[in-house]
Amino acid sequence: MASSPPTLLRLSQGHLNLLTACPRKFQHSFIEQLGTADVIAQQERLLQGARFHLVLQQWLLDLPVNSVLAEETQLQQWLMAFQAAAPQILDAEAQQQPESDRTLEFASFLLTVRYDLLLIGNHHAKILDWKTYPRPQNAHWLEQNWQTRLYPFVLAETSAYLPEQISMVYWFFQTEQATATPQSLTFQYNTSKHEQTRQELTQLLNQLSHWLSRYQAGEPFPQVGWGSAQCEVCSFAARCGRTPVSSDNTLIAEEDRAIASAQLPNVLPTLSEIAEIPL
Ligand code: SF4
Repeated sequence: MASSPPTLLRLSQGHLNLLTACPRKFQHSFIEQLGTADVIAQQERLLQGARFHLVLQQWLLDLPVNSVLAEETQLQQWLMAFQAAAPQILDAEAQQQPESDRTLEFASFLLTVRYDLLLIGNHHAKILDWKTYPRPQNAHWLEQNWQTRLYPFVLAETSAYLPEQISMVYWFFQTEQATATPQSLTFQYNTSKHEQTRQELTQLLNQLSHWLSRYQAGEPFPQVGWGSAQCEVCSFAARCGRTPVSSDNTLIAEEDRAIASAQLPNVLPTLSEIAEIPL
């Protein structure tokens, strides 16, 4: 009897950001599905953002929005801001695809994206993304974020558009000022960015394959270096032995290794057992 094909792990931009920031955090959050206090604290903000995405999806599809808006003033304000700016945000010539999903098999993983709105034109495709926070002063961190790199990459790989025909636009809806006009940041894609992303993705996913196979053999994912500012605000600091309990880093390193191996689950999950997390 033919054996079934191996299950491919689905990865979103969020997973890639996590993996790039700290492989051990990826292990705790994604593979072991360990909840953290900061994630729980963010739940209400995330839910409100999700409701706003739903309102816009309904509105773009000409469906009623009142049941989603309910009595929520913030959602109503964001929708009004969107409607007022719609002529700048939308393109009357382009076909609109709200909440459009795509998947690309790449380096033995499934890369998944969800475009808030995809505008399909004859010679240009625009990926729109809604953010419910103010436009950042410095665009560089957003340019380096995996969302900005992965979203156009997957579109270029799964459509007939050339990289030069693709752009990604973030629209920021403020919370402080009720009447604030949404602001945008545009990133034009091109062939050079596409090839660079391909190279970096290949390298990162090859590393991930290696770490996964080592993990299955009982070895935890690597941590970020000692003294990283990330550990100071990370909910896994105690689990990682990165709390400032000693000034002697050598002692802490020993303790860290002991904690890490003690806390590896007895039965490691297989890829098919790892639950998906939201995009
Ligand atoms: S405490 Fe530091 S090493 Fe551990 S998961 Fe968090 S960032 Fe990574």
